[in-house]
Amino acid sequence: MQPKIWLSSPHMGGNEMKYVQEAYDTNWVAPLGPNVNGFEEDLQKYTGAFHASALSAGTAAIHLSLVLLGVKAGDEVIASSFTFSATVNPITYVGATPILIDSEKDTWNMCPIQLEKAIQDRIAKGKKPKAILCVYLYGMPGKIEELMAVANKYEIPLIEDAAEALGSKYKGKSMGTFGKFGILSFNGNKIITTSGGGALISDDQELIEKSRFLATQARDNAPHYQHSHVGYNYRMSNIVAGIGRGQMEVLGERVAQRRANFEFYKELFADVNGVTLLEEPNEDYYSNYWLTSILVDPSKTNGITREEIRLELEKENIECRPLWKPMHMQPVFADCPFYGDGTSEKLFEDGLCLPSGSNMTDEERDRIKTAILNVFNKK
Ligand SMILES: *Cc1c(COP(=O)(O)O)cnc(C)c1O
Repeated sequence: MQPKIWLSSPHMGGNEMKYVQEAYDTNWVAPLGPNVNGFEEDLQKYTGAFHASALSAGTAAIHLSLVLLGVKAGDEVIASSFTFSATVNPITYVGATPILIDSEKDTWNMCPIQLEKAIQDRIAKGKKPKAILCVYLYGMPGKIEELMAVANKYEIPLIEDAAEALGSKYKGKSMGTFGKFGILSFNGNKIITTSGGGALISDDQELIEKSRFLATQARDNAPHYQHSHVGYNYRMSNIVAGIGRGQMEVLGERVAQRRANFEFYKELFADVNGVTLLEEPNEDYYSNYWLTSILVDPSKTNGITREEIRLELEKENIECRPLWKPMHMQPVFADCPFYGDGTSEKLFEDGLCLPSGSNMTDEERDRIKTAILNVFNKK
């Protein structure tokens, strides 16, 4: 058996251990320290956000953003349906109800038309949603101008789940810096990793300071332990932040490598009927192409389905994954109100994520190419 080709695996830059060693040597083995501060500065510089707070996970960042916006039990929060479950789970942590919105076909992200329909309908039913959580799947920016216009019109704060979109931009501005909050993730499979970690970014200094307060058990200023808020233990460790500082040195390269993967697949499928890629709709959009994703239309491929491709590649020890299954189709969220027209259901049926690691070798690309062409040449 040939060695496994992963969908997306960690890719160290080389200087991570230097920062980790520094933390160890200076005894900053704690959920605070110079690496945490340094990593936050790196994130601010890179994204252009004025403030960043490094946390234990992207999921923790989403949870805190909802707490900071005052979302409470019985409230409603609007979210993209076509996403990973970590976008929507924190809505239930605060006791609120997720209101799920379908995708549009250009970027596969939240449809601004369905969003407005949903807001109007929820208001008519007696509850104005407390927040909007939009996601940028596979690194592709969403239609942020339209989404912001709806959010502003109804005066509902927008949170951008940019967990998959660090390095992606719209009109030159980093994703995660348009709404009230941006969420980043440094989980093991993301474009850069700290093994596990996340961040909350915002232009609102007060809210970011409050996020640090809440993330460190909400300790009031007193010599004894004094608490007037419910707190969380969500701060990033100084060891983990050391990995993050090393990774930030190579983030630019990582984006270039992922974008080169996309170009490789684009060329590979150029002459294949019935396979289309998720692509930047126009030059306003800049994707980090975290995962290159395709749609397979069996009516144009001689009946070849995405599942056939996935299974063939699996036989060759090459990992692929169907597109994320929409939240309104998940048993756990089946009762949540959903506004849509079948777009994300169709994406789930026909879509496939291809191996997209920034550490993929030419040899691995050759194996992928051979395996994919085999599927199409058989018919
Ligand atoms: C990975 C991911 C998250 C969660 O981030 P963690 O750091 O793993 O908690 C949230 N939303 C999306 C879209 C993700 O891909």
